[in-house]
Amino acid sequence: MDLGIAGKSALVCAASKGLGKGCALALAKEGANVTLVARTPATLEQAAEEIRKATGVRVNIVAVDLTTPQGRAAALAACPNPDILVNNNGGPPAGDFREWDREVWIKALDANMLTPIELIKATVDGMIARKFGRIVNITSAAVKAPIPILGLSNGARTGLTGFIAGLARQTIMHNVTINNILPGLFQTETMMGRIDAMARQSGKPVEQVAQDRIKTIPAGRFGDPQEFGQLCAYICSAQASFITGQNFLIDGGAYPGTL
Ligand code: NAP
Repeated sequence: MDLGIAGKSALVCAASKGLGKGCALALAKEGANVTLVARTPATLEQAAEEIRKATGVRVNIVAVDLTTPQGRAAALAACPNPDILVNNNGGPPAGDFREWDREVWIKALDANMLTPIELIKATVDGMIARKFGRIVNITSAAVKAPIPILGLSNGARTGLTGFIAGLARQTIMHNVTINNILPGLFQTETMMGRIDAMARQSGKPVEQVAQDRIKTIPAGRFGDPQEFGQLCAYICSAQASFITGQNFLIDGGAYPGTL
């Protein structure tokens, strides 16, 4: 299926690795020109080269910290009128809420709630004026089923989700949709780092910890960032113009509920 987004411009946040990179690649495969943002120039350039080689589209990179106003301004200067915005960022640390002071909370809210809202604020009116826009926020399966040690993530991402639920109904009449994708366990650097840490803490071999996690996934495997990206590309397609304010769980069946 031709997704109807060839030639569109996409600003993809936190896109040098993992889920963000998966989204950038899938959008580029559909012919969208992509601007990738992350902090580390070397991995960004590597991801950009990989996507250029695989697709032949124009790929820009911006090496900045998205949680800073200067970083966001630089990203928007490189891609001033995106048709597609994929909001993503590093996740907050795990821990016990008794140890988190105001500063820790503000950092999490800044990264996983306020940065996406700022980027939406800067881009959504242009999308409305041009009568096309697709905004996808990468959140977490923890929005649907909170993970106790990830309280910072649960709180910040659910705040973003509530905000989006209101806004998404105000933009769709202009062919601007806003949706969230909720990843379960995907094989990325961050997730494998967590497994390494769990192995060190428990004294179990990494492979065993990974297998224990896989046992919680009915699909019998971790997710692949490329399949995550393909879902993102569909939500960004011309065909998906009647879908807004939704939360798409992609978790290999891990969430056990009926709805
Ligand atoms: P990843 O593979 O480690 O990639 C993270 C990306 O974010 C990298 O490109 C990183 O590049 C960039 N980044 C981090 N902080 C940034 C900042 N302040 N400004 C700009 N770029 C930044 O991580 P991932 O697994 O794809 O996770 C993406 C998001 O999904 C995270 O919020 C994570 O918590 C959430 N999530 C992931 C899973 C999973 O199973 N993988 C499950 C649920 C939720 P630099 O470090 O160079 O900046």
